[in-house]
Amino acid sequence: MKIYNDIKLAQELIRFPTVKTEDRGIMRFLSKKLGDIGFKCKIIKSKGTGPKPALNLYARFGRTKPHINFLGHTDVVANLNNWKIPPFKAIIKKGYLNGRGSQDMKGGIACWISAMSDFIKNNRFKGSISIIITADEETTGYGCPAVMKYLKKKGEKIDFTVVGEPSSNNSIGDEIRIGRRGSMNGIINVYGKSGHSAFYGSYINPCTVLAKIISKLKSSSLDNGTKFMPKSNLEFTKINVDNLSENVVPHTASAKFNVRFNSKHNSSSLKKKLNKMIHAVAKKGKCRAKIDYRVSGEAFYTKPNKEIYMVKKIVKKVTGKNAKLNCRGGTSDSRFLGSIPRLELGLRNSTIHMVNERSSISDMKKLTKIYYNILENYF
Ligand SMILES: [Zn+2]
Repeated sequence: MKIYNDIKLAQELIRFPTVKTEDRGIMRFLSKKLGDIGFKCKIIKSKGTGPKPALNLYARFGRTKPHINFLGHTDVVANLNNWKIPPFKAIIKKGYLNGRGSQDMKGGIACWISAMSDFIKNNRFKGSISIIITADEETTGYGCPAVMKYLKKKGEKIDFTVVGEPSSNNSIGDEIRIGRRGSMNGIINVYGKSGHSAFYGSYINPCTVLAKIISKLKSSSLDNGTKFMPKSNLEFTKINVDNLSENVVPHTASAKFNVRFNSKHNSSSLKKKLNKMIHAVAKKGKCRAKIDYRVSGEAFYTKPNKEIYMVKKIVKKVTGKNAKLNCRGGTSDSRFLGSIPRLELGLRNSTIHMVNERSSISDMKKLTKIYYNILENYF
């Protein structure tokens, strides 16, 4: 069986211009590579950004427990003008691999596959290794839920996932993500009774009540934060009263807000809590309130467990540095993994989504070593 070179594989992956949900043959390429070292591969379709479906991949080696999984994505963002080095040529220069996706996150995928191929060739072990690669992490995010649905149908159970997103900040492994805050948007409509502003008592002003609701929500603490996540915070982002007259008290007033919440809440418990506060103020002001919500993502968090401490120890061994466990950063496919214990650890994020994205070769070598050690210690 083969051992794949991380740098060469990353170059091959970067040369597929997989912008948006364009496949360009990359999943077939990966299936072949993984199939050659003993993986069973399944392509799972989901809705693409264009007329063609997005192709996602689930590949598994072994049939028994324990089951460690790696999650990544092959799609890349655009921002392709004004590069010094063409974004899909994957040219190595002065110790850096240049190209779109080198850090986010074809580089990380290549490091993981290289480590797996080396581990499988040189070790006998009991258990399974799998890899999920999605095609729309940067855009629609239908791929990962489609794969999760497939896994559920097939009764596949993952025990631990390493998400290979570029979590490292100043040096490889300096930060490990163990969760992320949730995000929810809301719009409050307050209904009063319109009237002539000269006739106090004949109208019920929704503006006054809305102002009180805003004041109440802003002065109430949602929680005190957790060890790894800051306090939940609600911010009003728009206030609107559609009124063209100066002497008419309007019938309605509305406000929009966004709330970033930690793992002490989920969206439905938070909705209940907010609704209760809003309705109480509205009722006191003799108004009716209607609240609509849109949840962009639930908070999730893996309580540091033996796998997370194991990875922290490995990072120390390979890099000499102490990794910080935190919940920083933007959204990723990790939000779709439900209750699977997981962490995010990958390359640095210094040039992701920018022009001239590049990854240091020595960073990649370190990451491959970390991933290899994770496999060795896991089994
Ligand atoms: Zn990414």
